[in-house]
Amino acid sequence: MSLGICKLCCEEKELQRSHVIGKTVFSHILRKSIGNAGISICLESKKISKDNDTWDSKLLCKACESFFNSKFEDYSIHVLRKEQKSVNVTESDLGLFFKNIDQYRLILYICSIYWRAAYSSHECYNGIVIEREISQYLINVFKDKYNLNPRIVSARIRLLADENVGKLSEHPISMIVNPYHRLKEKGYVFCMAFEGYFFELFINSTSFKERLKPGYLNRTGKTLFIPLVYIKDIPEIAESIRQARRIHEASPDKEKYKL
Ligand SMILES: [Zn+2]
Repeated sequence: MSLGICKLCCEEKELQRSHVIGKTVFSHILRKSIGNAGISICLESKKISKDNDTWDSKLLCKACESFFNSKFEDYSIHVLRKEQKSVNVTESDLGLFFKNIDQYRLILYICSIYWRAAYSSHECYNGIVIEREISQYLINVFKDKYNLNPRIVSARIRLLADENVGKLSEHPISMIVNPYHRLKEKGYVFCMAFEGYFFELFINSTSFKERLKPGYLNRTGKTLFIPLVYIKDIPEIAESIRQARRIHEASPDKEKYKL
């Protein structure tokens, strides 16, 4: 048993192996891959390896872990996978159109990943930081003490596409990109990609006009359009993929790790 201070309730409890990006996201990829192992390409060490790490770390007590899962994650993952019965989805070449969707839950899901990533000790979340003030503000929002103010935190979701393979969500092997920060003139953006979507959480960095653009989530809206975005138009991800391909090409184990 490993006792520690839970990051959410701040009590000394037995800590769980908490997932930041849900275990189900990793299982999805691992199930589809050979030998139940994904391929990990580390850009820093230029190493390529089989990997079934699900990026967990001791972070939360059992109650807080299930609080995040039942309140935000289960619903959001089902919506993103188009499996949520209460939500109607129409698909077109331009993106996805959701009807009767609870966008606030989706926004808080992205917030909860950011918050947990910032506290996780797993190396995949090393670059993610949170200011104490924003952290405390989000805790109060998670517990429904405040309503999230879009000027402080707002979210955008877009559907990833590639000129060669089309929508990534329809591609048999999916990918997860380590979350990262993008600095803006004012504030910053927390970015991540999984399940074929590109997620952005804007911290003190959007204007009212920007938030009206497609893909921005509206706390009270019942309909949501998630537009396509091409990987080439997200410089950080395009560059990561380019580097990963280069490392793969140069690896003596290239045949062993088919991409
Ligand atoms: Zn707790």
